[in-house]
This record gives sequence, structure tokens and C-alpha cells, in this order.
Amino acid sequence: MTELPRTPLAIVHARRLEGEDTPFYGALEGDEITPLGTSPFSESIRLRGKERVPLRAVRLLPPVVPSKVCAIGKNYRDHVKEMGSDAPPPEPIMFLKPSSAVIGPEAPIRLPSISERVEYEAEMALVIGRRCRRVSESEAASVILGVTALNDVTARDLQRRDGQWSRAKGFDTFCPLGPAIVLGLDFRGLRVTSRVNGETKQDGNTRDLIFPVERLIAHVTACMTLYPGDVIATGTPSGVGPLEPGDRIEVEVEGVGTLSNPVMADTDA
Ligand code: MG
Repeated sequence: MTELPRTPLAIVHARRLEGEDTPFYGALEGDEITPLGTSPFSESIRLRGKERVPLRAVRLLPPVVPSKVCAIGKNYRDHVKEMGSDAPPPEPIMFLKPSSAVIGPEAPIRLPSISERVEYEAEMALVIGRRCRRVSESEAASVILGVTALNDVTARDLQRRDGQWSRAKGFDTFCPLGPAIVLGLDFRGLRVTSRVNGETKQDGNTRDLIFPVERLIAHVTACMTLYPGDVIATGTPSGVGPLEPGDRIEVEVEGVGTLSNPVMADTDA
């Protein structure tokens, strides 16, 4: 098996549209996927062989199914302001999104009838590479496998009403993830954008995070053990807004690609 360089490397999780239907991990280059012969979480990632699978012959799945998505609220100053606060939070605000909310690229976001306002939130997300707890800021980079894009879909009315955010951020389909995990990106300066029906709505950069990635990892792991494949969502820049049935929402993280999902009412088939 050929050993792959760790950088730059885009890893996707995919299922063939025809034939063998066991999902597989592969390295994405252009519009071709080369299946891996190892887990993306192994010490040295290797290719299975020389086989190439065209991107059009697969459906991309969420790149990981995390045991938990640890998400951070109010981590960009301009978003803190648009949420109606003056001061940034004194320490990171953490909440969890359930793994049952995770969907992959192109899977529909379903708007629950019990919410009157569901909003997108474009975020850079970190995929954890190994089991870890109590990680110091100086060691934080070593527990990250790579970077992906995440849409922290939120029922804004229920978030305000509940106080606790579990319901507002935890509906099925409220955590689009993907399209790839990219290894070796410098997560300190990546552009994060979103578009609804092609119109740009958010345009931020991870250099503007109030609490940087290293601080977030130290903060989360001071509380809980992270497992390989767990995800940390780093917060959203300003420009959040509503989604309606029939919309298409795209979240783009520089170097990762575009996570695109259609939107439909939950009553639709
Ligand atoms: Mg968020």
C-alpha cells in the first residue's frame, strides 16, 4: 500500500451508487476518489491500491459520525453583536449537538413545523483524531485530525424560548457536515462563507475567533473526553438568517470546499 503525505489531503466518506454499497473512506483529488486501505484515524494513512472511483459514481456521506458535536456559541464579535449582546462571553460557551442531527452533503435539512424561524450558521469544524482529555493549549493541535465545514442549523425561536439550546439545535438534519476532512490546513486563517440560493450571507475568517482553536480544545477537554471522530464547531460569523422550504444553503470553508444542502418542510415526503 502507498503511504500518503498527511498534507494537504482531503478525505471523504462515500457510498457507491451502484455495486458494492459498503461505505469507504478515500482521498479526493479533483473529481476522483482513491479508496484508503486504512482508517483515516490510523497513524499513517495508506491507499488501498490504484483503483480510482469517479466522484459522480458515489454519494458523499458525513465524513464522520461523531459520538458528539461540541459546539461553541458567540465566538465572533460581529455575531455577538447581531445576537444582541455588547460584550463577548468571558469564556467559551459550549453546547452539544446530538449525532442524530448529523447529515452529509446534499441531504435535505428538514424544517420542523414547531419552529417558525430556522436559521443557518456557517462554521469551521475540527475533527478530533485521537482519544484525549485535559489537553493543554500547547498540545491542542496534535489531537486534531483535520478541518471540515459544518452548518449549525438553529431553531432561533425555540433557542430564545427554551434557554437551554438542546432542542433548538438538536433536531434531526440540523448538523450538515462535510464534504471532506482536510488534513494539514492552517485553521488560524480560513475564510468561512455561506450562501442562500447563491447569494452570499456570511463572510468571516477564523482569524477573528474570540477564543482560538487551541483554547477551545483545552476548554472542552477540561470537561469531557473526546473520541476519534468527535467534532468541535468553532462558532459562526455574522449574517445568520432564515431558511425556507425550497432554499439551497451552501457553507464554504476555505481549503475544505462547499457543503451544500437543500431545505424542505418536515411534512414533505
Ligand atoms: Mg453556532
